[in-house]
Amino acid sequence: MGEFELIRKVFYRGPSRKTLLGMGDDCALISPDKTLAVSSDMLIAGRHFLPNAEPFDIGFKALAVNLSDLAAMGASPLAFTLALGLPQADDAWLEAFARGLFSVADRYQCELIGGDTTRAPAGAPLTISITVMGELGFGGLRRSAAQPGDHIWVSGTLGGPARALQLLLSDAALDSSPVSSALDRLLRPEPRVELGLRLQHLARSAIDISDGLIGDLGHIADQSRLRAVLDVSKLPFAPVLSQLSAYDRLSLALAGGDDYELAFTADPSNRHALDALSDALLASHGFGLTLIGHMHDGDGVSLVDEDGRPVHGEFKAYEHF
Ligand SMILES: [Mg+2]
Repeated sequence: MGEFELIRKVFYRGPSRKTLLGMGDDCALISPDKTLAVSSDMLIAGRHFLPNAEPFDIGFKALAVNLSDLAAMGASPLAFTLALGLPQADDAWLEAFARGLFSVADRYQCELIGGDTTRAPAGAPLTISITVMGELGFGGLRRSAAQPGDHIWVSGTLGGPARALQLLLSDAALDSSPVSSALDRLLRPEPRVELGLRLQHLARSAIDISDGLIGDLGHIADQSRLRAVLDVSKLPFAPVLSQLSAYDRLSLALAGGDDYELAFTADPSNRHALDALSDALLASHGFGLTLIGHMHDGDGVSLVDEDGRPVHGEFKAYEHF
């Protein structure tokens, strides 16, 4: 089988059901009823995933991190394009990659409508570039929309994927249940799409946590021209962090990255509704929501303890590899 037929066999799944025209022509055609939310993410082997990662997991994560951006805007997934730079075309690798990719695509009804595949020069890393498109029935959960006094909330737990990566790279035992659930989130993050949709009427601003809470919340603070005040005693630490020192735990939860949870701000009057949503999500999806701070006049992100006293420390983003 030629390379072209292989790509077609692996990625073509029949006529588009969600757009006017899908794969197979010079362009796909989309005629949206609503505002289109568009985002691109590029993943490079050795930088965003380990070069020896399972192809299923690479395909899964490549689309999941893109859907996480749609979730952070409150958008509903519609379609995506895929551009691959492949050092070699290997049938088994491509088929496993496509299985991972489509397991996420099918769950969130996000259709592959086009793309390109190029043979990368010898020695070049595998690169994957995805552009996702979603639909918005409102103005979106923008980073600039936080108000003074807003509560800051975060979904799920923090620091697990970053700790799992440390353990993976140090050849530590990975069989305990807190480690394996952290590893699952590192390798196959579940984008918080349903949460993003539910936040349309409850949150003012949101961001997904890819680089670590402190850095990503810093973008909301900067763009809203406010200060984010985080109570570190409220942070939902991943269970896998329980054996670590207080500093290491804080450092991984604040700056470890790869969490793909949502951080968002909401009017304090929505607290009860968000507590109820948290209970519902815990029952249906296995993660809750935690109130971790508030927005204040000023700038940047500051950390306080449960008595409101400042917590000092340098929490820099981890170098991934
Ligand atoms: Mg993002």
